[in-house]
Amino acid sequence: MMMNWNRRQFIGALGTTSLIAGFPGLVFGSAKARVVIVGGGFGGAIAARYLKLYAPGIEVTLLERNKQYISCPMSNEVLAGERNLDSLTFGYAAHAARGVNVVHDEVTAIDAVKKTVMTQGGKNFAYDYLVVAPGIDFDYGAIEGASPEMEKTMLHAWKAGEQTLQLKKQLEAMKNGGLVIITSPRRPYRCPPGPYERAAQMASYFKHHKPKSKVLILDHGDTMPKQALFEESWKQLYPGMIEWVPGNSGGKILRVDQKKRTLVTDMGEQTADIINFVPPQRAGAIAQMAGLTDQSGWCPIDPMTMESTIHKGIYVIGDAAVTNDIPKSAHAAASQAKVVVNAIVAVTSGKPVPKPQYTNACYTVVGPDYGFSIVGIFQPEGGKLVSVKGAGGLSPVGAPAYVRKAEAEYGYSWLKNITTEAFL
Ligand SMILES: Cc1cc2nc3c(=O)[nH]c(=O)nc-3n(C[C@H](O)[C@H](O)[C@H](O)COP(=O)(O)OP(=O)(O)OC[C@H]3O[C@@H](n4cnc5c(N)ncnc54)[C@H](O)[C@@H]3O)c2cc1C
Repeated sequence: MMMNWNRRQFIGALGTTSLIAGFPGLVFGSAKARVVIVGGGFGGAIAARYLKLYAPGIEVTLLERNKQYISCPMSNEVLAGERNLDSLTFGYAAHAARGVNVVHDEVTAIDAVKKTVMTQGGKNFAYDYLVVAPGIDFDYGAIEGASPEMEKTMLHAWKAGEQTLQLKKQLEAMKNGGLVIITSPRRPYRCPPGPYERAAQMASYFKHHKPKSKVLILDHGDTMPKQALFEESWKQLYPGMIEWVPGNSGGKILRVDQKKRTLVTDMGEQTADIINFVPPQRAGAIAQMAGLTDQSGWCPIDPMTMESTIHKGIYVIGDAAVTNDIPKSAHAAASQAKVVVNAIVAVTSGKPVPKPQYTNACYTVVGPDYGFSIVGIFQPEGGKLVSVKGAGGLSPVGAPAYVRKAEAEYGYSWLKNITTEAFL
């Protein structure tokens, strides 16, 4: 069902839902300006929605290469056979109906001086303000022997879509008693709990179909987020099926041998029936081409507004931005989108930009009726985005089954809310 919110309903919702994050000093704009948004994922799509709602006079153009968006959140459930990809696939008709100029094209260049965006289709878009939300690309060059070529034999499935389906097929074709390796890359990367949730969802599939099979996680890092919760859930649901090797115990990938299909770590050569190689990451390529990234490969921003510290008038949101304590998540991208909308509307209306607060809520579903979550609140401090002490929280370890079941249900509600906000 399409949601057509008017301003009264919108303000009403602000009082009761997490929409309040990023809108602490609500300002509505009447000014006319041209805003171009690059990338229609969670960040870009939500920015487009609220810009049009907040300031209908602003001309909003959303440039997105794909006609359909496939949500990564909950895509690990596709691997377990708990859902299909259709349930995670969305279009852009609602944006067009609201008056957003939706253009499906690849952005190939940004001229920050002339304030124009060029596309593969040969179009030029002039802007007064630009929002760049291209998500991630992979940094294969960071590991000796790795290259995009290896996606033919070692899938990442870290951008939900065709590779998610292929990985699922590989699991189905694997023998009972087989081994899957999942790599967890250099930090920061998109969705910090993702590899560990994926291991659990694969184990869930094996438990019912190939119970002698195992998942081995080779980790660049020494710890994992929600560690006690993951370890507890693996023990309870999938005893002996998941092994985790942290970086300081030899989990770090030092080299890839594509010919032999092996990963080299301090423990020697590793191989498996299926290798799910999640590569190191950096900001989406267009951010790099536009000179918005620093030596880290991500885009530095002013935490008050998400405006690039390299190019004025360009805001970078979502996974592509340097956000310090805030993890790279869809929820965080949504929160950042609201901060940018507020900043652009304030600037175009000649009003002061209010100090923002950012939120992140991350639900993990490790199997049927079993979920847990972490919530964080963040604010600008000393030029960085820092976690507010005493705010937020983590699910308790040792909670009874009805709590885990409720948390899984909250996770599904969260997905429904954020995909509605972004695409419906
Ligand atoms: C397995 C997995 C599970 C996850 N689970 C969760 C979860 O439970 N909760 C959560 O909050 N987050 C989760 N995430 C993370 C979440 O998917 C990302 O953080 C989120 O998608 C970031 O949003 P974004 O707008 O920055 O980027 P994206 O959503 O990737 O959107 C970027 C868009 O830009 C487009 N684009 C890029 N370059 C160009 C160009 N040059 N021209 C035109 N278009 C372009 C892309 O096509 C894409 O549509 C998960 C991720 C994975 C991989």
